Amino acid sequence: MEANLSSKPHVVVIPWPVTSHMIPIVDIGCLLAAHGAAVTIITPPGSAQLVRSRMDRAGQGDIITVAMVPFPSTEAGLPEGCERLDHVPSPNLVPNFFDANKLYGEAVARHCRTRLATPPSCVVAGMCNTWAHALARELGAPCFVFHGFGAFALLCCEYLNTHKPHEAVASMDVPFDVPVLPPFELRFARRQLPLQFLPSCSIKEESLRELREFETAVDGIVVNTFEELEHESVARLAAATGGKAVLAVGPVSLCGAPGVIDSRADSDDASRCMTWLDAKEAGSVLYVSFGSAGRMPPAQLMALGAALVSCPWPVLWVIKGADSLPDDVNKWLQSNTDADGVPESKCLVLRTWAPQVAILEHPAVGGFLTHCGWGSTLESVAAGVPMATWPFSAEQFLNEKLVVDVLRIGVSVGVTRPTEGVLTGDKAGGGEINAEVGTEQLRTALEKLMDGGADGDAMRSKVQELKGVAKAALENGGSSYMNLEKLIHFTV
Ligand code: UDP
Repeated sequence: MEANLSSKPHVVVIPWPVTSHMIPIVDIGCLLAAHGAAVTIITPPGSAQLVRSRMDRAGQGDIITVAMVPFPSTEAGLPEGCERLDHVPSPNLVPNFFDANKLYGEAVARHCRTRLATPPSCVVAGMCNTWAHALARELGAPCFVFHGFGAFALLCCEYLNTHKPHEAVASMDVPFDVPVLPPFELRFARRQLPLQFLPSCSIKEESLRELREFETAVDGIVVNTFEELEHESVARLAAATGGKAVLAVGPVSLCGAPGVIDSRADSDDASRCMTWLDAKEAGSVLYVSFGSAGRMPPAQLMALGAALVSCPWPVLWVIKGADSLPDDVNKWLQSNTDADGVPESKCLVLRTWAPQVAILEHPAVGGFLTHCGWGSTLESVAAGVPMATWPFSAEQFLNEKLVVDVLRIGVSVGVTRPTEGVLTGDKAGGGEINAEVGTEQLRTALEKLMDGGADGDAMRSKVQELKGVAKAALENGGSSYMNLEKLIHFTV
């Protein structure tokens, strides 16, 4: 039996096992614990360290109960130890991961029936843990879903699910309206939509149907955002989902004290990187990173590299998957960038896990070239750093639209097609093998970001203002603070 959690409200958090999803949902658990709730986070053993690293970052390591429930990888035909979606070695095995997750749901249910010290007062589950709704009902608790998307992207998805405009277009490249936030003109091509709206996707139809049934059945949606940033999207999402509770509780990355280094980062690399940043002028550094998994074809990487080494600002560039790059690209990187981080070098490359939140919070950072993953986007807002947007896939084209056209805190580099066919297994149709974005095009966008005259100043001051509002949202009485209270005391 797990530790007695007394009569406090008890929130059971069940992350969908993907790195970039686990980060914010564990942060939500930390915020709930800081608000006085008893919190249990249920995780496969292979992710316990990731969970603990986030809890330690937030100073909640001793308060939250971490319950490890075995993840049946091999039973579902996955390699042994494959316990996170981003560790699945090939898109063909994605359906197996969903199968394993179903069995995992049964094991989680057994755990909750017999091992929780007190019944949950609320369950917060990752969006693919579709079994969590029946479990919450059985345990007498309300069930909230956490998607990891922002409110605007969720609103777009709700519209797409209901009206299906993407099914009426003649091709993947024909733009169509998604009129969710008038007066903004919001147009997307089908190719730019999240996975579930693409004609071929590696998730089985049955699983997609279950995802939709789950999000329709839940009592509410927890969103990593803050109302002042996405107020209208939050209100419209609540209306579009038939009055569900939509609780904006972010930016959740602020659950850690400023400047705390994520312990997932290699400590030598992290300190090298911070020393390098310390030697740079305020607002002078361009930070370049494309999320936990973002990789680009070698031709595109070279075009990006050529723009980065020729631009006048110091650049901190995180490269994922560098071990699988062709030799000539690696050679080029070695001779044109710096891996040791001598303080006077101009382009520092990190190939390990970057302490991203601490980097963005560093005063030297003046701009962020991002793939528009929602975690990265909101971390940039919370740090007051304007963005150059390079969406790769998933809901990132939707996020780009919010950043560039609605909020006006970023400049687009002009990508029109997904950079990688992540999870679609459809490289030819969904991924560009060659460079879509040329060096000159990139330089122009980066100049607008880093030097952009009146427009650049306006962008910078808007995002700085949002930084202050983001912080206030989580302080006592702020909008996200109050929504965390609502979540803790929610009853059906
Ligand atoms: N992240 C990090 N270091 C890295 C890469 C990513 O700390 O080297 C974190 C980042 O701060 C964010 C998450 O991983 O919290 C990435 O989530 P996001 O939604 O931006 O993108 P995804 O990985 O889902 O594409």
